[in-house]
Amino acid sequence: RVLSAREIRKTFIDYFTLNHEHKFVRSSPVVPFCDPTVAFVNAGMNQFKSVFLGTAAAPHKRVVNSQKCVRVGGKHNDLSVVGQDGYHHTFFEMLGNWSFGDYFKREACALALELLRGPYNIDMGRLYVTYFGGDKVLGIPADMECFEIWRSLGFPTERILPFGCKDNFWEMGATGPCGPCTEIHIDHIPGSGPSAVKERAKLVNAGHADLTELWNLVFIQYNRNADGSITQLPAKHVDTGMGFERLTAILQNKSSNYDTDLFTPLFDGIQSLAKAPIYGGSFPDSHNAALLDTSYRILADHTRMISVCLADGMLPDQNQKLRRVLRKAFNISKQVFAHENLLAELIPIVAETLGDAYPEIASKQQSVIELIAHEQDVYKHLCASSSKAFAEVLTEFPKLDDIDLMECPGFVPAYREFQVQRSNFPNNTIPGDFLYKLTDTYGLSEESFLKLAELENMNCDLERYRAELAVAKLRTKQPLRNGVAGDFAMEQRIANAQALLTKKLPATDNSHKYTY
Ligand code: ATP
Ligand code: MG
Ligand code: MG
Ligand code: MG
Repeated sequence: RVLSAREIRKTFIDYFTLNHEHKFVRSSPVVPFCDPTVAFVNAGMNQFKSVFLGTAAAPHKRVVNSQKCVRVGGKHNDLSVVGQDGYHHTFFEMLGNWSFGDYFKREACALALELLRGPYNIDMGRLYVTYFGGDKVLGIPADMECFEIWRSLGFPTERILPFGCKDNFWEMGATGPCGPCTEIHIDHIPGSGPSAVKERAKLVNAGHADLTELWNLVFIQYNRNADGSITQLPAKHVDTGMGFERLTAILQNKSSNYDTDLFTPLFDGIQSLAKAPIYGGSFPDSHNAALLDTSYRILADHTRMISVCLADGMLPDQNQKLRRVLRKAFNISKQVFAHENLLAELIPIVAETLGDAYPEIASKQQSVIELIAHEQDVYKHLCASSSKAFAEVLTEFPKLDDIDLMECPGFVPAYREFQVQRSNFPNNTIPGDFLYKLTDTYGLSEESFLKLAELENMNCDLERYRAELAVAKLRTKQPLRNGVAGDFAMEQRIANAQALLTKKLPATDNSHKYTY
């Protein structure tokens, strides 16, 4: 029998509370009360951050929860892929279990594996696990203990794969608690026999829809000190997070999260309210229908995100990212589905699918609908008054007809500046520092400046742009660091990033011909 999403969530909580002495802690709101450094709560650990930092007591030694998470902006920004793939959402639920100074690696791995194999009945032959392979530059050793644990739990070595810091080392910030993690990945189309394992293993962490990350288990065992060194923490913690929609897709035998009962009621709603052609489940680069299907996915995704944020008391005028998502949902409702009030009319369906797990989504639905109506009015007026201004811009720059200027108000001034500077750009390439200026000064997203480049048939020096971005980020982190004077590690990191920058610059570029 196929489990419903509701049953899958309950099974997770029951397993940890009833069988393994964990205390259930309910989801925090997605408004980041506990952490002003993020725009939204983006992981289960956010509400426990001060426990890891040692400034608050743990609610219990063992905790389990299912956390409402939003990943729009910041370190985790999945907005641009939403709708393009079947497993990244702006809003998703993260199932997690915690040990605060209680059990550590072996029990955490064993608990996770037992749950997947037992109650969820997943064939272990579909699983791949990753561990931290060490980092010579940072001087952190490989987590061979973790490797041995997975071996002893029955994984063949070909399915225990080492990865570097990006995927398998977790840090809270520039200093503070950190540690290696291990991740469980799952094959949606299990290969036939051991010979296939080597080929399938190449898909792990490669952004492939057939083999996706399911569960991240973080072992918080180190502290990163202000001088950049790493020391052992006195108390060691476990922090895990599993993507609920991904788990549901696996257990309901679906290749995409959107084909689960978390999303199909929304698709049915869109289809019947807008009298639209039925959702076909195709993805970009498969065939033409993908455009409509992608709109279905984005609208369903955004409707959930908007419901959750508004029900938690977040307001679009205080959160521009939320406002952007709302406007995107309005545009899709009107332009793709020709049904202006579609977004608001879908809210009761979200309340129906998520309301029992998160009661505020059900109880606040009326005010959510009212807030949407208000925001929609504001947007309508803005569109009406701007369309005149946009018409003037279009007579000046007819090329911009393809750009959604309403979505990106900074585009016009950015484009003007581009016109002034372009004759100084070498090799038909927009330099990275200019791209950085477009984002920093005019608020253009990467997506927007790529469009600009496409309009002009130019390339972008993305590598240099990303280095600029990294340097800027490191700089903004500095003042947050408790006034540690002459922070060597940070200085060093900035110097390294800058060295990288100068190295990347072609010799002729050093003269900085363009002026800004
Ligand atoms: P990915 O590499 O797939 O982007 P991640 O490494 O960014 O995932 P983590 O920060 O490790 O994700 O979060 C823990 C779990 O949350 C992931 O293993 C995944 O199952 C789930 N998850 C992460 N991002 C999303 C998302 N945007 N939508 C749905 N589930 C997600
Ligand atoms: Mg991610
Ligand atoms: Mg990952
Ligand atoms: Mg991960």
